[in-house]
Amino acid sequence: IVKLEDVHLSFGQTQVLKGIDLTINKGDAVSIIGPSGSGKSTILRCINALVQPQSGRITVDGTRVDQLTKESERIALRKRVGIVFQQYNLFPHLTVLDNIVLAPTRILGVDRREAEKLARELLEKVRLSEKADAYPGQLSGGQQQRVAIARALAMKPELVLFDEVTSALDPETVGEVLWVIRDLIRDGMTSILVTHEMRFAEEISDTVVFTENGRIVDHGSPEQIFHNSDNPRIRQFVGGLS
Ligand code: ATP
Ligand code: MG
Repeated sequence: IVKLEDVHLSFGQTQVLKGIDLTINKGDAVSIIGPSGSGKSTILRCINALVQPQSGRITVDGTRVDQLTKESERIALRKRVGIVFQQYNLFPHLTVLDNIVLAPTRILGVDRREAEKLARELLEKVRLSEKADAYPGQLSGGQQQRVAIARALAMKPELVLFDEVTSALDPETVGEVLWVIRDLIRDGMTSILVTHEMRFAEEISDTVVFTENGRIVDHGSPEQIFHNSDNPRIRQFVGGLS
């Protein structure tokens, strides 16, 4: 459902993506790993039309997302493609439930009662039913991130992008967020994850993509990338796992 073909992107003089080709099929879980600055976040931002490449093609379910010129078209795309960031950016003055209900009611025009019903189902899914009426400030980082995931799911996206969603969390709460993502993937959600959690990427991915310096150096099954790569750079990067 997602296809990138020879995508090039520069910020000013800096070439950030130097010809990215990537295909993601419905129901796939794809992990993107690689050193800092290699372009991982930029790939996600392209798919969600937060940035536009200078050349190449990006299609999501047949829509050319690299060519969207109207903000309304980009908003329509973002209804279909959810994104969760390292910083969860919940609205601090709204309860957990209201954070989740906001976008479906405001953007999709779902009525409040229906949106609330879905929000409660999602809170159950992320194991936070008892926090519906709490405010973000009263939750741990891991709990806030799970609310952010529920909020993304409330838009019923076809695809969810996760950009290092556990990087800002203390080690004890990383696991609870990963469990939630694992459940989603097992339920068949098409997902692209940028992550430094190698064990997790190995466990849940159909495909692992290794990026370096704006290029995809290699991609393959977790077994291939983590245990059988003949690329010294990848072997060094995944180090402890093999
Ligand atoms: P990290 O693991 O640190 O998150 P990354 O692989 O996600 O790294 P990107 O955030 O995609 O890397 O950035 C790739 C390169 O693009 C970096 O050199 C970064 O400095 C540059 N870059 C990213 N966004 C911008 C921007 N808005 N303006 C200018 N340069 C940018
Ligand atoms: Mg990044």
